[in-house]
Amino acid sequence: MSSRPSLTLIGGGLVGALLAQQLARRGFTVDVFEKRPDPRVAGFAGGRSINLALAERGLQALRSAGLAEDVLRHAVMMRGRMVHTVDGRSGLQRYGVDDSEVIWSVSRGGLNMLLLDAAERAGVRFHFGQGLVGTDFDARRMRVADASGTEREVDAPVLIGADGAGSALRATMNAYRPLGERTEWLGHGYKELEIPPASQLDAALLRDSGGHDQFAIEPHALHIWPRGGYMCIALPNTEGSFTVTLFLPAQGPHPSFATLPDARAAEAFFREDFADLLPLLPRFAEDYEAHPVGTLATLYLERWHLDGRALLVGDAAHAIVPFHGQGMN
Ligand SMILES: Cc1cc2nc3c(=O)[nH]c(=O)nc-3n(C[C@H](O)[C@H](O)[C@H](O)COP(=O)(O)OP(=O)(O)OC[C@H]3O[C@@H](n4cnc5c(N)ncnc54)[C@H](O)[C@@H]3O)c2cc1C
Repeated sequence: MSSRPSLTLIGGGLVGALLAQQLARRGFTVDVFEKRPDPRVAGFAGGRSINLALAERGLQALRSAGLAEDVLRHAVMMRGRMVHTVDGRSGLQRYGVDDSEVIWSVSRGGLNMLLLDAAERAGVRFHFGQGLVGTDFDARRMRVADASGTEREVDAPVLIGADGAGSALRATMNAYRPLGERTEWLGHGYKELEIPPASQLDAALLRDSGGHDQFAIEPHALHIWPRGGYMCIALPNTEGSFTVTLFLPAQGPHPSFATLPDARAAEAFFREDFADLLPLLPRFAEDYEAHPVGTLATLYLERWHLDGRALLVGDAAHAIVPFHGQGMN
């Protein structure tokens, strides 16, 4: 039996799963309550390829968990940013001097599942489909609810919140004793679109893949279509597609998500501003209509803990806008 205290983590995302593994390897008894179902059984939420830029800081964390090699086997190297100008020209700006100084595109779902497997191997117990809904810090207990809303109480002497930017644990800590919380909204939103593998596109469009037949454009780059106050980016996925993210002001004069309420308006805008990208997005209208506009904010707290009873980590503690490949890293 472990002599270390028993820890309850809320959230089995990127930070929760990695931290759980690390704590279990140090001899703690760790239980993780995750609101969503097990992605290894139910499929990762959304089912689409959503990817992240993994850089040296994130890799260092994965190395310490013994997982860097595994992750890199399923990652696509990005040597630099490929900048696409409005007149259709493009050029690569390298991140470093050679291929030892690069970043990597990794699947969020794939990475999360690998971290869950590693945590389980280290002895962590996961309780999927169980979301935190309330805490009693004096009694050192919490309430969790399943997908049907059925609630139960659980002992939780030490709580660690890795439940993301909208953290439920943070809300209950803040209600018990204010954390000095401040959120700075960026004012820009984002929407995800997709460039499919080359085989699903008209061959006449495939000019720039640098000889990589599976991909419509150069795979070993983080593509950016910068346009001043807004932009598109695209990160490669191992199966040949790219996840494209459109960043635009949420409100205000054209162009903003408010002035582009539907796919028709958005397509006309893309024809002007992203003329070389639009033909690579055959499901533009479906994706634009179906995918929500996400919000972006930076979260500041004066305190991340409640004297030995609760602690916040990851986005729950310090969510940040992702433009410098930050957050997960
Ligand atoms: C568009 C976008 C692009 C990004 N790109 C990058 C990038 O390229 N590189 C990078 O480093 N970072 C990037 N980030 C940031 C990165 O996604 C986050 O920093 C990272 O996911 C934080 O991990 P986390 O585990 O703290 O939170 P999350 O990944 O949000 O995980 C939180 C987990 O907690 C669970 N949960 C939520 N509420 C409850 C509850 N009440 N009870 C139990 N469980 C709960 C959720 O289901 C989830 O599994 C990006 C973010 C966005 C929005």
